[in-house]
Amino acid sequence: MSKEKQFETEAIRTQLERSDFLEHTSPLYLTSSFVFKDAEDMRASFAEEKERNIYSRFTNPNTSEFVDKVCKMEGAEAGYAFATGMSAVFSTFAALLNSGDHIVSCRSVFGSTHTLFTKYLPKWNITTSYFKVSEVDKIESLITSNTKILYAESPTNPAVDVIDLELLGAIAKKHNLLLVIDNCFATPYLQQPIKFGAHLVIHSATKLIDGQGRVLGGVTVGNADLIREIYLFSRNTGPALSPFNAWMLSKSLETLAVRVDRHCQNALKVAEFLEMHPEVNWVKYPFLKSHPQYEVAKKQMKAGGNIVAFEVKGGIDAGRKFLNAIKMCSLSANLGDTRTIVTHPASTTHSKLSETDRLEVSITDGLVRVSVGLEHVDDVITDLKQALN
Ligand SMILES: *Cc1c(COP(=O)(O)O)cnc(C)c1O
Repeated sequence: MSKEKQFETEAIRTQLERSDFLEHTSPLYLTSSFVFKDAEDMRASFAEEKERNIYSRFTNPNTSEFVDKVCKMEGAEAGYAFATGMSAVFSTFAALLNSGDHIVSCRSVFGSTHTLFTKYLPKWNITTSYFKVSEVDKIESLITSNTKILYAESPTNPAVDVIDLELLGAIAKKHNLLLVIDNCFATPYLQQPIKFGAHLVIHSATKLIDGQGRVLGGVTVGNADLIREIYLFSRNTGPALSPFNAWMLSKSLETLAVRVDRHCQNALKVAEFLEMHPEVNWVKYPFLKSHPQYEVAKKQMKAGGNIVAFEVKGGIDAGRKFLNAIKMCSLSANLGDTRTIVTHPASTTHSKLSETDRLEVSITDGLVRVSVGLEHVDDVITDLKQALN
């Protein structure tokens, strides 16, 4: 699917063919299956001699519209939509890997993805080696003859580190690996990993793509042959996105550019405020000059995203006290919502890890992650300020 118009236009004007009702906006096709004219039509459809909808576990008009949009936004050939981001991650690995295969992954990946690597994929004799965000120069030394996938997220969760996608693309090409990027934090609006050599791009659509904290969803897009494998795996195992959620997510994409622009403006202002605050040790935001990978972020991202990480002075207790003093912002596990969300990873999401393991993924005791929302930024800053004081 080649990109013909500008990003914002494709996001709005990519839509299903109108029905006889001439509806302006795409209707919701809440149907589990589709009918055939006769036996021959049915035979030809199952033989894939025709491209048409058969059963919503395979394809559905609403999921197809959503996938088409994401493909245009990411510059991808094809895609498949999933019920959640995690089903996209798991199905991508499960469809493409065989027993004995090896993954090289950044250590700073989404928690459940790490659990897949450590607990579930080993059941099928698939192993993973990790590099730290600060040690991309060690990636090549981890590659073995069994390595099939190079995997990373950028920016990372929750420490907002940035990884050089162009470098990963070059390594993948040199060693004939599949480069798979979880592009959730950046969204296709800010960063398109395929340009840098990624073969597949994964999104948790639950985050900024929905952007309003309503539905779960996921999608994998990229090379058509690889997507075909992922599609065949998924059509038989059943992680399909529901038509209703696909319809919501496709609508959400219409406003992605406008929303993410404002998220980024607000996040930069929050980051600049925090950087000046005496109770804050440091702030990490990709588009702050102080970010260790600022130049890389500028090269591969349009703006810095909506996640800001910072360290309050005083460790675990100060982090918990800060959270308790928050009045307006939400304490919630989600991110990429219209509502600003504040979390303290060391005492919550990452509390089961030892301090050494937490430091491996750049989580210090006082680290706070802010998913900056779309409230007026002055109100967000006022809340953070009173909580810090
Ligand atoms: C949330 C998230 C996921 C998982 O997505 P779900 O929709 O919650 O299953 C995967 N990767 C990243 C980076 C995420 O933030």
